Amino acid sequence: MHNAGLIARYREHLPVSDTTRIITLNEGSTPLVAAPALGAALHPKLEVYLKYEGLNPTGSFKDRGMTMAITKALEEGYEMVMCASTGNTSASAAAYAARAGIKCIVLIPQGKIALGKLSQAMVHGAQVIQIHGNFDEALTLVRKICENFPVALVNSINPFRIEGQKTGAFEILDDFGGVAPDFQCMPVGNAGNITAYWKGYREYHALGKSDGLPRMMGFQAAGSAPIVLGHPVLEPHTFATAIRIGNPASWKTAEEARDQSGGMIDMVTDDEIRDAYKLVARTEGIFCEPASAASIAGLAKLSREGFFDTVTPRQGDRIRVICILTGHGLKDPDNAIAAASEPYTVEPKEEQILELLGFSPALV
Ligand SMILES: *Cc1c(COP(=O)(O)O)cnc(C)c1O
Repeated sequence: MHNAGLIARYREHLPVSDTTRIITLNEGSTPLVAAPALGAALHPKLEVYLKYEGLNPTGSFKDRGMTMAITKALEEGYEMVMCASTGNTSASAAAYAARAGIKCIVLIPQGKIALGKLSQAMVHGAQVIQIHGNFDEALTLVRKICENFPVALVNSINPFRIEGQKTGAFEILDDFGGVAPDFQCMPVGNAGNITAYWKGYREYHALGKSDGLPRMMGFQAAGSAPIVLGHPVLEPHTFATAIRIGNPASWKTAEEARDQSGGMIDMVTDDEIRDAYKLVARTEGIFCEPASAASIAGLAKLSREGFFDTVTPRQGDRIRVICILTGHGLKDPDNAIAAASEPYTVEPKEEQILELLGFSPALV
């Protein structure tokens, strides 16, 4: 079937009408990739799947929320949208606003967003304003401006963002024929996505379209872990810039997702995130951005701690776990290069290359 975007696919579950002009880049319907090598590397009881959200049109799951937020902003007559962003929201807002023919303003923390994301916001013609401050401060400013001026706020506190993003859960359940996974692991930043997935899972369950609910496992970076610590973090830090957030807007609903599902919100260190980032790239051929790898780092941590040893799978003999890979690795080439070893540099001579490969020229 032709993918005409997630509003077309899940129209009956979304607040649009027959006359709504849909702004889409054919987002959604992303692959759910089996990850047997990764699973085996972590724990013998695991059956791991990766929801590769980096394959959305602008390279992150933010497109799911943005197709709805921009569609509704247009329907409500707005000619300007605004967001605070750690990078991906601005990339997505800029692209969808361009497609809708409306103006987009983005506030970003100076020097703290990945190169690919900044380039996207700029190429799509958004007005990019860098602040000497962090994401939380940017969001406070955006909220205030959007309250007082005719500008639509397209951060994930916009309920239409959550509506669009809940379709990720629908896709997973549709891919598994209505069988709910045992666990879902995902990064938590501003906490809109865990809120949205939990809403999606509950809605499908209430409609009889799934046989149960997964336990929601959220992971924050240790330097930006307000929900784990139980208080805002004034100066959040982590190299996983997409989750460098000290005071999540959807804090309460993230806790609800955790508590209602019997899940947890835990933290992982930058070293654990970096290891997971390399592990998934090298064992499964999947390149995600650092923040996305927090889901795998969390799964690895739980596996190491013996968490799964006593878990009984919902069905069959293996524990089915979904890791949400929220954004594409190409977003952040600087971190990819920093995480790898330097390439060798040699003269254009066969002997030199053979020597590096450990082949003996004498055998030729
Ligand atoms: C936005 C983002 C997150 C965090 O999602 P929240 O909804 O803010 O919790 C994680 N990873 C990536 C790649 C993102 O762009």
